[in-house]
Amino acid sequence: MLMNMKELLSVAQKHQFAVPAFNVSSSMILKGVMEACREKKAPVIIAIHPDELSFVEDSFIAGVREEIIKSKIPAVIHLDHGGSFEQIIRAIHCGFTSVMIDASLLSFEENVAITRKVIEVAHAVNVSVEAELGTIGTTGNGGEAGTHEIIYTKPDTVKEFVARTGVDTLAIAIGTSHGIYPKNMQPKLRLDLLKEIRAMVDIPLVLHGGSANSDTEIAESVKLGISKINISSDIKDAFYKKCREVLQDPVIREPNTIYPPCIEAMKSVVYHKVDLFNDADKVKYYQ
Ligand SMILES: [Zn+2]
Repeated sequence: MLMNMKELLSVAQKHQFAVPAFNVSSSMILKGVMEACREKKAPVIIAIHPDELSFVEDSFIAGVREEIIKSKIPAVIHLDHGGSFEQIIRAIHCGFTSVMIDASLLSFEENVAITRKVIEVAHAVNVSVEAELGTIGTTGNGGEAGTHEIIYTKPDTVKEFVARTGVDTLAIAIGTSHGIYPKNMQPKLRLDLLKEIRAMVDIPLVLHGGSANSDTEIAESVKLGISKINISSDIKDAFYKKCREVLQDPVIREPNTIYPPCIEAMKSVVYHKVDLFNDADKVKYYQ
């Protein structure tokens, strides 16, 4: 059941669960994510970053659409961290149902202007738009960028931003970073800030950099009104750790022998996230 983000998350918001957005840039990862979510009857977001899209190429999106239609679970194909108008148009052209325009490093006024421009074209073809206020940190080892100093989202700017842009969903910065945290870096989420922001606007809120945070804080953020949580590093880590182990065997070479245990290892992380986000068994709300 392919839909846009607004349709997917309005249900999540109503029933207080968050839908995981998994970064997918190989057909093996796609296979594992879709299988696990089908088994859990869990709505899902297939997120693809522009760097990942350059790698898998536009034709990959047709396959993602097929997988989603076959799976019968509610799902969205989302461009993660679109960095320019050109990247947005490319994504819409090849079949994404949702796009993020990340102008969080620009000034507030510039962020408003480009978000409005993206919304004008995206909404014309029923594609949802996510924007970002504040900045996500970096651990230095994620596939995505981030700033060294996190700029926390200022609650008083949120209302104005949403009113002036008409954006569908908003990514907020409350203390997470992209990647896996090194041992000396323990994130602490500003859940107080989340509460304040939640009270300001009605649209679904998004948490980036959801890998390797404490499960307690993540579960709490869902209760406080986060409707979408981005996970990239955690699933890839599980997948490739298993790959390294499997490939210790020097003669193994068939993909259908190498990948199944890697997919299984990754699926257990997907199951865990789905349960943590209260996303299991929510397909029923879309029927
Ligand atoms: Zn992100």
